[in-house]
Amino acid sequence: MSRPIYLDCHATTPMDTRVLDAMIPYFTERFGNPSSLTHAYGWEAEAGVKTARQTIADAINATPTEIIFTSGATEANNLAIKGVAEAYFSQGKHLIAVQTEHRAVLDPCKYLQTLGFEVTYLPVSQDGLVDLEQLEQAIRPDTILVSVMAANNEIGVLQPLAEIGAICHKHEVLFHTDAAQAIAKIPLDVEEMNIDLMSLTAHKVYGPKGIGALYVRRRNPRVRLAAQMHGGGQEKGFRSGTIYTPQIVGFAKAVELGLTEIESESVRQLQLREKLWSILSKIEGIQLNGHPTKRLPGNLNVSVERVDGSALLLGLQPIVALSSGSACSSTSTAPSHVLTALGHSSQLAYASLRFGIGRFNTEAEIEKIGSEAIAIICALRQAKNNHTQIVSQESALFQANSDSV
Ligand SMILES: *Cc1c(COP(=O)(O)O)cnc(C)c1O
Repeated sequence: MSRPIYLDCHATTPMDTRVLDAMIPYFTERFGNPSSLTHAYGWEAEAGVKTARQTIADAINATPTEIIFTSGATEANNLAIKGVAEAYFSQGKHLIAVQTEHRAVLDPCKYLQTLGFEVTYLPVSQDGLVDLEQLEQAIRPDTILVSVMAANNEIGVLQPLAEIGAICHKHEVLFHTDAAQAIAKIPLDVEEMNIDLMSLTAHKVYGPKGIGALYVRRRNPRVRLAAQMHGGGQEKGFRSGTIYTPQIVGFAKAVELGLTEIESESVRQLQLREKLWSILSKIEGIQLNGHPTKRLPGNLNVSVERVDGSALLLGLQPIVALSSGSACSSTSTAPSHVLTALGHSSQLAYASLRFGIGRFNTEAEIEKIGSEAIAIICALRQAKNNHTQIVSQESALFQANSDSV
């Protein structure tokens, strides 16, 4: 039996073989420790890391010294939020985040609350966007950090980074953005957007898992940060641990490829998404979640009325690999906090599907998924109607019997 079509690119992406090719020499012959500056093995590895750091910095209009490699966006978010809180607590103990942030932002914030910090979790409008006026009003004299994600991992919504950055800059509050879903998919510019800290990861952009970075502004203003990992003092002391050369080289290759193809891929994925939506929107009681245009080109998230969410996912499982409106963390079955923040009932949040279209998906796949989804939804509704009819017939019969007693 063939495996289902992969359409879960917001969870992770397949690694591009061109990325693997770039990484392989750094596992084998160029295996040296980039911190070993006394011999050629170390120099070779160090050269690979240096080039990669430049590539990542260029991708967001930063300088190489502003890039700290981490194990991914989770660690980068933790370093940014807890690191700023620890470095700035004498100036204030208030932070602002958005309700639809990834758990890797929300949970460090919750942790800080246990230490005495205060956090405002901004609501979003029905289309998933933050209200800029509300954001500005939430800033207090003791606010030290605003954290707003670039692109949402469930509904793909793109927040207005430049406008948020301008507000933060005006009030002299640091601005952090989780750009895990955005890097090399939409243009990012830390100068133009007044971004002070930015979390990145490789595995959402066809790179390897286990590598990411935190951008930390060094000028206007110079951001202070408390390290969260102590040890050998790598990454300017912000993140100790032997530098993972092959992953870093792969990360840079993935970003480089993503940027080379950013325009053509955006257009292609947008066409696929519109194709899928043109098929699915024929279903009665289906709705699009999130802003219709201010979203990642490859993201489609829908809720379906009068269908059991788990039955729908189960029916689709042999055909397509995707995720539903229950929280994507495997340990939780709660309805998605993102969809409930849009004002959805938990039932409608459960009966939702997140399609993450990526680099390797084709039009034929999209057409197949569209028609199979329609068939399954119709079958489920039919079964439900039959069941309801049987139940009502039975209760009528019961009613008739009990009446006659
Ligand atoms: C995937 C993701 C993360 C976590 O990134 P890891 O590199 O897997 O730790 C954080 N934030 C967002 C928005 C994500 O999509």
